[in-house]
Amino acid sequence: MCDIPQTYLEPILYKAAAKRGSKIRMNAEFVGLEQDDDGVTATIRDRLNDTTFTVRAKYLVGADGARSVVAEAVKLPMEGKTGLSASTNVIFEADLSRYVLHRPSVLYWVLQPGSNIGGIGAGVIRMVRPWTVWQAIWGVDMEKAETNITKAEAEIALRQMIGDTEIPLEVKSTAVWTVNNMYAGRYSAGRVFCMGDAVHRHPPLNGLGSNTSVQDAFNLGWKLAAVIKGQAAPALLDSYSAERQPVGKQIVTRANNSIADYPPIFEAIGLLSSPDPEEANRRIAARKEATPEGAARRKRINEAIQKKNYEFNTHGVEMGQRYRDSTAVVPDGTPEPAYLRDPELYYQATTWPGARLPHVWLEHRGARKSTLDLCGHGRFTLLTGIGGEAWIEAARTVAQHYGIALEGLSIGPDGSDAMDIYADWFRISEIAEEGCILVRPDHHIAWRSAGMVGDATAALSGVMGKILGRG
Ligand SMILES: Cc1cc2nc3c(=O)[nH]c(=O)nc-3n(C[C@H](O)[C@H](O)[C@H](O)COP(=O)(O)OP(=O)(O)OC[C@H]3O[C@@H](n4cnc5c(N)ncnc54)[C@H](O)[C@@H]3O)c2cc1C
Repeated sequence: MCDIPQTYLEPILYKAAAKRGSKIRMNAEFVGLEQDDDGVTATIRDRLNDTTFTVRAKYLVGADGARSVVAEAVKLPMEGKTGLSASTNVIFEADLSRYVLHRPSVLYWVLQPGSNIGGIGAGVIRMVRPWTVWQAIWGVDMEKAETNITKAEAEIALRQMIGDTEIPLEVKSTAVWTVNNMYAGRYSAGRVFCMGDAVHRHPPLNGLGSNTSVQDAFNLGWKLAAVIKGQAAPALLDSYSAERQPVGKQIVTRANNSIADYPPIFEAIGLLSSPDPEEANRRIAARKEATPEGAARRKRINEAIQKKNYEFNTHGVEMGQRYRDSTAVVPDGTPEPAYLRDPELYYQATTWPGARLPHVWLEHRGARKSTLDLCGHGRFTLLTGIGGEAWIEAARTVAQHYGIALEGLSIGPDGSDAMDIYADWFRISEIAEEGCILVRPDHHIAWRSAGMVGDATAALSGVMGKILGRG
């Protein structure tokens, strides 16, 4: 996810929600709630005229960020600490082409020994628009978390950071945010559910915040819809916390560990070697020398930087979620596949129930489509292959029986619903052609059958009954 400022994003999100029938109220602040056996009554303050009104709903979702009033109102158990340190978010405009064009990137670490940036002479500049709009981040004193930094203070620091006192530069905005290391032990209380930063609070390292928040919504959305439409028993909603809480804990830990991996890099480069900037610069320059000291420094730097793979390349953390011990997943009797490589760094594709549906390119109606695009869209999907016709028939019957959206799709050679053009599905699906994989609306595998069974409809119906709590 990129750092699109909220001011650009919010109108798009509001429009999308309104199009789907949501009622949107601006300047409305949630202040409290009461819940009973039938629903939740939320008290809302109209900030324009300082009056309050109530909204009655069957369920309430608190997606109100890292200072969540909803999570506090229902006393979700929080583990960890907030406010560990503070950092800036400074948006500025300056044409930095001459410093970056020869090595274009989105994120630059900037080291300036002797400057006051971040207390150690180090900060980050992120590209917003090449090569004129930027976001700068550096550490500041915790007291600034309350007062913010001024544009004038930001400009001084930016000029030190860039190392150019003359360059035309305009600070557009400043904000200070704090580093948190906190997650909720559970994501729901009765009819109230929390998601996003409300339940996982962590620094932006690894860029996992929005992604995980969207995943939370993807997970809860179809379950709430199924319960509200009467397709599933309310017990289905219990699986939200069971599935997502371990993910929140994992990403909070990962992002905070990524902070801890920085000091060894600064140490190795020599930034922290002396309070005297000239001496520090001499030691930093020593990394280029053909001396034992230079060779040792180069080795230490390279080793320390390797650790940053755990910030920039953790595909396993990003995509490898496997939901274990969930009532919305039906085991197929096979043990969880062992990780063949570091599970944080590497995503290991599997169709083991609970895992995320692997992406595979297929051809569908003449167009190249991902398995991920063929599944989802608010419905269950049953994937099978040649010899799996009974599963497709079963999907029709089961959809009708439970009144749900469930589509059967065959993947295989020409003539199937989707063509396995690179034979990747054949290699990755982990089932026989006549087996099946049931994919949930949120792209996670609900269940699979290695091959055909005697009564496909009974088998699929039993599985769906368990997932929907209508067994
Ligand atoms: C510097 C920085 C860089 C980041 N970079 C990345 C990145 O590269 N990739 C990434 O994935 N994530 C990144 N993140 C994290 C990401 O911004 C958050 O994880 C994400 O915005 C969380 O979404 P959310 O909807 O849970 O909360 P928020 O975006 O905080 O939204 C909460 C909303 O609730 C509203 N609200 C709060 N209280 C109330 C109330 N009482 N009543 C009514 N409304 C209320 C707020 O006004 C706000 O609109 C970054 C964060 C920071 C600080």
